[in-house]
Amino acid sequence: MKGKNTTTLTKILTIDPSHPEIDKILEAAKIISDGGTVAFPTETVYGLGANALDEKAIEKIFTAKGRPQDNPLIIHISDVTQLQELVEDIPQHAYILMEKFWPGPLTLIFKRTNKVPDRITGGLSTVAIRMPAHNIALELIRHSQLPIAAPSANTSGKPSPTNSSHVMNDLSGKVDMIIDGGNTGVGLESTVLDISGDVPTILRPGGITIEDLLDVLPKVEYDKAIEMSNENIIPKSPGQKYKHYSPDANMIIVKGNVEEIVKKIMKLCKEYEAQGMNVGIMATKQTFDKYENDNILVVGDRSFPETIASNLFNVLRRFDEKKVDIIIAEAVEEKGIGIAIMNRMKKAAGGKMI
Ligand code: AMP
Ligand code: MG
Repeated sequence: MKGKNTTTLTKILTIDPSHPEIDKILEAAKIISDGGTVAFPTETVYGLGANALDEKAIEKIFTAKGRPQDNPLIIHISDVTQLQELVEDIPQHAYILMEKFWPGPLTLIFKRTNKVPDRITGGLSTVAIRMPAHNIALELIRHSQLPIAAPSANTSGKPSPTNSSHVMNDLSGKVDMIIDGGNTGVGLESTVLDISGDVPTILRPGGITIEDLLDVLPKVEYDKAIEMSNENIIPKSPGQKYKHYSPDANMIIVKGNVEEIVKKIMKLCKEYEAQGMNVGIMATKQTFDKYENDNILVVGDRSFPETIASNLFNVLRRFDEKKVDIIIAEAVEEKGIGIAIMNRMKKAAGGKMI
């Protein structure tokens, strides 16, 4: 057993995401079927995978990440027939959702079978499952012939990894293999939708928006705990209660219309600098040339919020490399994918917003 102080030899393997080389996939799949851990790219963020049916293998994920024991894992599958041994009951609307959004960034919560280890679900009676839309992930699952449990491949609490160097920074020496398959696309984690009750409920906003879901479902609700202001409500998704996505620097979000945001950020920046702080500004394509500061990073284009989703975690990590003391970040409009972006930003900032 790997204790906390022992290191593992981590093999780095580069695989072409458009045409995954079969010999390399087989090498990675063997690690999974032998009970090891492999970090691999998906269309959302990099995942740290292990055989979902093997308690010992799953334990290695928790150890490598330093993940809280009660935070359940998402199981990744490559074929809907794999649901049979994992879920007790497939509600009618699940078929519609799977047809429309799988493979893709939608995780569904089902009632689970006894075959799913308690270690995966944190003792819950439900299990989270998704089919990733990424060639390397799908081929790895197919060739290991196993469902693969895979949380984000970062140290717990850090921003999720969107390229292999993020994974290497966090997990080198702690996992058996890291597959380098380039940058992920969506950049934020999957939407978690609970379909085990009467009304489908979003437990975590993500790559699939509520508008997307309402195209095929008559009713969808948000879990009340998604709003950070409701701190007394216990989230249904255990992961949502933890500090998350956090850079080492403090972070503060400034909201309002774009002009107000720029003015406020310039003022704050001067105040913090006067206190001797190294300030980072997270700007957008529309605003970056308005600031006078050495540490401005452009997270994306306000007209195309997908670009902001895709770059957010990378930009947070780059601010840490620049050793800034505080990140002042522009809020984005809370609609469409902007809801998921702001959910991650608020957690990164510990709720600090003006
Ligand atoms: P990660 O894979 O690190 O992005 O985290 C997985 C997320 O899915 C966490 O927020 C978990 O709390 C959530 N999750 C996994 N399984 C369940 C479940 N059975 N019920 C509710 N939330 C879950
Ligand atoms: Mg995570």
